[in-house]
Amino acid sequence: MNSKIKFFQSIRFKFALIFALMLMLTLEIVGAFFMRQLERQNLNNFKQQIVLPSYIENSLATQLGRSNTASATRRIRTILAEVNNNNISEIRVIDSKGIIRGTSNSANQGVVGQKTTDTAVKNALVSDRTHTEYLYDNTNHDRYYVNIVPLSSSNGNNNEVGVLYMRANLEGVYSTINNIYVIYITAVLASIILSLLLSIYISREITAPIEEMRKQTMRIARGDYSGQVEVVDNDELGQLAGAINNLSVRVEESQDASESERRRLDSVLSHMTDGVIATDRRGNITIINNTALQLLNYDEEDDVIGKSITDVLKIRKQYTMRQLIDQSQTHLMVDMNDANGLILSAFFTPIQRESGFVSGLVCVLHDVTSQQKEERERKQFVSNVSHELRTPLTSVKSYVEALTDGAWKDPEVAPRFLKVVQDETERMIRMINDLLSLSRMDSGTAKLNLEYVNINELFNYILNRFDMIIKKEKNENPDGKHYSIVRHFTKQDLWVEIDTDKFTQVIDNIMNNAVKYSPDGGVITCRLVATDKHVILSISDQGLGIPRKYINRIFDRFFRVDKARSRKQGGTGLGLAISKEVVNMLGGQIWVDSTEGRGSTFYISLPYIQYDEGDEWDDDAKD
Ligand code: ADP
Repeated sequence: MNSKIKFFQSIRFKFALIFALMLMLTLEIVGAFFMRQLERQNLNNFKQQIVLPSYIENSLATQLGRSNTASATRRIRTILAEVNNNNISEIRVIDSKGIIRGTSNSANQGVVGQKTTDTAVKNALVSDRTHTEYLYDNTNHDRYYVNIVPLSSSNGNNNEVGVLYMRANLEGVYSTINNIYVIYITAVLASIILSLLLSIYISREITAPIEEMRKQTMRIARGDYSGQVEVVDNDELGQLAGAINNLSVRVEESQDASESERRRLDSVLSHMTDGVIATDRRGNITIINNTALQLLNYDEEDDVIGKSITDVLKIRKQYTMRQLIDQSQTHLMVDMNDANGLILSAFFTPIQRESGFVSGLVCVLHDVTSQQKEERERKQFVSNVSHELRTPLTSVKSYVEALTDGAWKDPEVAPRFLKVVQDETERMIRMINDLLSLSRMDSGTAKLNLEYVNINELFNYILNRFDMIIKKEKNENPDGKHYSIVRHFTKQDLWVEIDTDKFTQVIDNIMNNAVKYSPDGGVITCRLVATDKHVILSISDQGLGIPRKYINRIFDRFFRVDKARSRKQGGTGLGLAISKEVVNMLGGQIWVDSTEGRGSTFYISLPYIQYDEGDEWDDDAKD
């Protein structure tokens, strides 16, 4: 908005102009009447002076009636010379025959005795009436007034004896009128200028509060509510100023209210754990909270504002804005197809005014990636369990059928068949037990019997057991697969808080795998080291190794690189999954490092608090 108003556009100028124009108009009208009246009055006054005293007229009439024309002419001349009227330029005396008998113009005495050529004089002689007229002299450009008066004999019968022709120069009268006119115009101009200045001053006084109010409203428009318009009078402008002051307070209050409302909404939105997006009716984003920005992987609000929600959520192909607006609520699962496999649950609700007009959409986003993953895993797990149990059951069924069909009588086949049935049944029991312990750990019902254990001793004890088995197998089957165990243990005694049974199960499982997958003559290296905060156990074999692409899946339930081989060796595919759960429950971590064809190393790290040599066990604290 242009805050500067030019003087010629201002209300002050318009007021002054109206004043001046009205004054001019008034003075013009008054002046026109006045000047007309003045002119008429002056002319009338002047005309009244263009007459001769009656005794002179009588004397002249007497002279015209005389028979001695020569003496009469002389006498007329004398009478005319005696006339003392400065207003009359020339007086002529014309007898009834139209002969000019005398003139007051001494320079023009030549006309005396000549017959008049003036038609007005001739008409006056004929009509015997007074005649007046205005003349314009082309030679000297003067205006004249002519008065032709009939002269009657004074002997009582009123015989017309001639006319008296009087000519008066009007320039003097007009010049007087002009002078007055000039004075009048000058006075008018002076009064216009004065009134213009006065009206500017007055209008400025009147419009000053308006100007003040204009500035105040502009300040309000800019959001500055600090000013107040001064209320001088209690007139309309004063009341308007009061109303503006009131308005400014109201606007400030409502501005404050909407601002605090906005801040509240902002803080609610920014602290929400769900993502919230609002759009206009075309689906362009107008509001987005931080959670939604994070979920959709945007840094700045400005990167998304104005963009179409269907584009941002990548659902343009499946849904149009119309479809989302037309339904009172739409629930979608949006797969963002990004590197994290993000899956969002999106609730769309149209924003509807009371009139029913839909002004936009609100979309609430919730990250359901983990729920979806869990759901998928659960389904996968159920299918895996069914599959894993069906295979041994099918095999048990077929062997039992074969036995029932008569194989039981065959002393050679029957024991083999029964052994298979026994092995498969044992494997199923192992699997069911594994599943039960996994389920207990999943549901949190698995109890840990925690105690401080010297891990060096425990690890040694377990490995001694394996040494015994190795020795036993060597004696029983000298041609079978052979392998050896090597230990590299720290000398330091490491006391770690664990559940001995469960941890033994973990080591057993990893050792069993190492044995299972070791080649003939393979060396299994077991290490035990300690860092500041962790105890790390590792078991390395020289076996098949694990292909790189399966490394991340090795701890998944039922995952086996080679299913047939694992099954043949009695594996359930749950050992490493259980190991991982147990280690995690103990606050540790388990991972594998493997090179295909060269061997694998399984690592277990457990939290460990180092005690100085001199530290005494604080039995109370321990309890
Ligand atoms: P399983 O009962 O089949 O041994 P585990 O959960 O213990 O089940 O192991 C899962 C899979 O991991 C095994 O089937 C095998 O493919 C692979 N695996 C485990 N340990 C080793 C190892 N030391 N060397 C090579 N592969 C291994």
